[in-house]
Amino acid sequence: MIRLGLVGIGKIARDQHLPAIAADGRYDLAATASRHAKLDGVPGHGEIGAMIAGGHQLDAVSICTPPVGRQAIAIAAIDAGLHVMLEKPPAATATEIMALADHARARGVTLFATWHSREAAGVAAARDWLRGKEIQAARIRWKEDIRRWHPGQEWILEAGGFGVFDPGINALSIMTAILPAPLLLDSARIDVPEGRSSPIAATMAMRSGDAAVDADLDFLQTGPQSWDIEVDTDAGMLRLSMGGSVLELPGGEPVTGEDREYPRLYARFTELVAAGKSDVDIRPLQLVADAFLVAERRTVAPFQF
Ligand code: NAP
Repeated sequence: MIRLGLVGIGKIARDQHLPAIAADGRYDLAATASRHAKLDGVPGHGEIGAMIAGGHQLDAVSICTPPVGRQAIAIAAIDAGLHVMLEKPPAATATEIMALADHARARGVTLFATWHSREAAGVAAARDWLRGKEIQAARIRWKEDIRRWHPGQEWILEAGGFGVFDPGINALSIMTAILPAPLLLDSARIDVPEGRSSPIAATMAMRSGDAAVDADLDFLQTGPQSWDIEVDTDAGMLRLSMGGSVLELPGGEPVTGEDREYPRLYARFTELVAAGKSDVDIRPLQLVADAFLVAERRTVAPFQF
């Protein structure tokens, strides 16, 4: 049994983490730390230091706050000897997550930097199908309505909030998992609303081996939403849609499966803790950091939620 502390009770904690923890008999939600929110029947604290000092005999924490500030929270947990599971993106910067990984290793605790989209129903089968095929080109179209999925989350357009890369990094987490060759960024364009710090739209031109990989990310998509990946190969086109949950192979019908992303993440965390291992893959974060390094930057119309 893992006695777990949950940090940052917001949208994703309520939508996904709490149901996944409740359904997994290997976890006991022993305490929470969130500045404003508490859960009925669970001891709640305003911040992680008080939670750690609260005598809950914690084994691990799961951190669901926004990326800025997450590293300090994780350091406090690691210093207390706790295993740590991080929401994506794992930190605000690449150096922060690399330092965290070193710190966890030195203290002998597990660090799990999660990428929930990699657990979507079609992703493992897509990776397996692509193995050994010639990849000719690939496309990401990740277009969603910020007002619908992130209502009132001002932090997302602040510095370090990632803007449209907050969802876009999910596509990059899938791409880096399914493509056989490393994904490198050549150029990018980011559109930042006047008066904001993070982009509302972006494009990325990447390559994987000889294949061009393009990404079109948009946070202002009303009507139908698209979270689609297409990969052209010598055996035809693979399409992953609905955020990786629907897989269509050449000549076949679209296939989907149950949404088990967060139950899988918690199952994997249990395995990592039991094995005394960590899982920290920074490639999706590195690509976003690279985009901020090389992008042509445009200022676009102001945005209000
Ligand atoms: P959210 O609704 O804003 O919740 C985050 C919570 O963290 C807040 O409720 C807040 O609770 C706490 N917090 C601590 N420091 C904060 C700060 N400086 N600014 C704002 N909140 C702060 O955000 P979310 O959608 O749950 O996203 C959290 C993380 O999960 C992000 O990294 C995001 O990429 C990831 N994620 C989100 C989704 C989604 O669909 N929303 C899906 C997958 C992953 P207190 O005020 O009580 O401290």
